[in-house]
Amino acid sequence: MWSLRGLHNRTDRPYGTVVLLYHRIGMPRLSSLVAGQYVLPRFFRAQLDYLSYRGWNAVTLARVVEQIGGSEIRDSNNFAITFDDAYLGVYDHACPALAARDMTATIFVVVDCIGGVNEWDSAAGDVREPLMSVGQIREIAESGFEIGSHTLTHPHLLTLNESDLRREIADSKKKLEDIIGREVVAFSYPYGEYDQRVVNAVAEAGYRYAVATKLGTVRDDTNCFEIPRVNIRWNTVGRLLMRKIGRAGRAARTRR
Ligand SMILES: [Zn+2]
Repeated sequence: MWSLRGLHNRTDRPYGTVVLLYHRIGMPRLSSLVAGQYVLPRFFRAQLDYLSYRGWNAVTLARVVEQIGGSEIRDSNNFAITFDDAYLGVYDHACPALAARDMTATIFVVVDCIGGVNEWDSAAGDVREPLMSVGQIREIAESGFEIGSHTLTHPHLLTLNESDLRREIADSKKKLEDIIGREVVAFSYPYGEYDQRVVNAVAEAGYRYAVATKLGTVRDDTNCFEIPRVNIRWNTVGRLLMRKIGRAGRAARTRR
């Protein structure tokens, strides 16, 4: 019997589990050194709807970590969403779009820059972009978004001495916990830079998982302090998004 079902919804073969990485949501500023990092709000919504249309399930980063070691991590089409740096555009455009779809995300905050601008980028010559305020971070935490630490000042962690490394990693956790009134267990490495010393400091500070920027899908043997992600840029929509996820799967397989 001929069915309409296939026309309305399709189900991809299992690609596995991916963690998407976003930075800025909003109108691209062409003077920016990282103009390709701006995702238009309507493209962001289109990405969510496209994945849903293809039968993908939005899950939390915590759920992804729970699934490591099991078979579902491989035999599914699950995606978790993360935002680095906590830009105001994420609060304005992405959070409402996610809430409207019953989805959530993890937002990684640069704690000493809350309510300010991206000083680490502007010091390197990039345009200044506003970041979320304390009140906005509290509000989204209360509405179910996970808040993670992206350090105090967004330094290059590999260059820090022991006490500065600990301060950036442990103090940012403590300060964030004071702001949101709950435990902070997720960490994101600035610039995706880490080594064993950094990983140890993150684990010792009491975080339970950390995300990197290296391309890959999450696999049953992924280290939960080195979770790979798929970096979404302004034009990563539709087929390009699927191609990138496919490439992430191949990258993860060849890395074994
Ligand atoms: Zn960052």
